[in-house]
Amino acid sequence: MDRAKAAFYWNTLTRLPEIIRFRRNPYAPLAELQEIQLRLLKRRLLHAWELNPLYRQRMEAVNLEKGYIQQMTALGDLRRFPIITKGDLSGPFDQVISRGYRIDSLIKSNTAGSTGRPLIFYVDHNERFKRRYVGVRNNLNITGCQSDDVHVLLSHYEPLEKDEDFHVYKTKLINRLLFDIPHRVVQISPYRDMHFRRELLEKLQPDGIQASIWDLYSLAQSIKKSGGASKIKPRLAIFGMGWMPDYMLGEIQEILKTEIRGVYGSREFGDFAAQCQYKRYHCSIDAVVIEAVDEQGEPVPPGTVGRLLITDLYNFATPFIRYENGDMGTALSTEECECGLTLPVLPRLEGRIADFIINRDGDRVVPSFFWNEWRQEVGLEEAQLIQSDVGHLKLNLVVNQRFNEDISLPRLRSIYTQKMGDIEIDFAFVSELEREPSGKLRMVKSDLAKSYLPHDR
Ligand SMILES: [Zn+2]
Repeated sequence: MDRAKAAFYWNTLTRLPEIIRFRRNPYAPLAELQEIQLRLLKRRLLHAWELNPLYRQRMEAVNLEKGYIQQMTALGDLRRFPIITKGDLSGPFDQVISRGYRIDSLIKSNTAGSTGRPLIFYVDHNERFKRRYVGVRNNLNITGCQSDDVHVLLSHYEPLEKDEDFHVYKTKLINRLLFDIPHRVVQISPYRDMHFRRELLEKLQPDGIQASIWDLYSLAQSIKKSGGASKIKPRLAIFGMGWMPDYMLGEIQEILKTEIRGVYGSREFGDFAAQCQYKRYHCSIDAVVIEAVDEQGEPVPPGTVGRLLITDLYNFATPFIRYENGDMGTALSTEECECGLTLPVLPRLEGRIADFIINRDGDRVVPSFFWNEWRQEVGLEEAQLIQSDVGHLKLNLVVNQRFNEDISLPRLRSIYTQKMGDIEIDFAFVSELEREPSGKLRMVKSDLAKSYLPHDR
């Protein structure tokens, strides 16, 4: 066994009690979980105060002393700490990376840059450990994968050679026993087109499919176009990476005849929330702290959508403390869920801020209202909203036979003006919506949204 492998096994072994805890935590009494969270948070803050130049300077700027951290008794005490943005963390490494870490011992990572310049950050050993186990828990355990499943990864998950059509991962027995990881995991090349990937899926007939929401949607569309006949009937479809309106999720569910569950996370933190069978996003509060705040940085009342701030409890090399990740959502709810998980629930999660549109008052309007109930009624297949200046929208429409120009267009116009106020709308009829180079369909494209963000991003 080489040294790196030996070190890896040794590390796993020393972490065994923590691994067992991670497995148990989702069902532990809430008070116990909250205690773990607060303990980890205080450790995290103290470390940043002592060893991270950027955070030390930020804390001192608002007169935060070490004693304050030591005396913290509740999560609410976090409110005094400054909010950190992507821009803040893009500074020089010697400011951003905690002292005592050698860059070459860390794993370099970056955000996708969907809201601007990608952020480069470093993952330390603690963080890598957390990502593995919390990631498995959220992607596989909470969503309901079983150890005798065949599980297919359809999008960019595991690295794959460009000329490889698919890759089969054999799960180690210990991982099947400890974590219920499916015994056969197959990654299909994300570089192949959907027709190819679908043929392979027809052969594999997986129990679980994991994909970006856009790939799941194109798979469903491909089955629908061919008359709906398919052997692909997974018990579970798990999606991440992106927001999609409920009606489209419903379509995927109907076509694939499957249970569909979302996982929520980001490059900065890994996957830290997953939907249970009641479609509630349970958040891993033993790994992160999630807050929802208003424009002034004050906590929003329960049920109100605010800017999400995430604090990572494991990454000491590049600390993310009250980091504004660009998503909008509500504060966590500790109401009991019938599924039995005690991890608190994120009651609402909205799309990326950059996908918002702006009304004449300069308010960001949540895009979800654009796509719901009335879509059937007016006869829309797909629609894409483009905003390049305030007071003006362009709507690209793919319509079906129910669409009636004399009725549907005025109806659409009234829906938008009702939500947006005085606004000019141009309609364009297209046979297909243009995809991004990545294959993604962006249903809301707004060049404006970025300039209406409260901070540099
Ligand atoms: Zn639940």
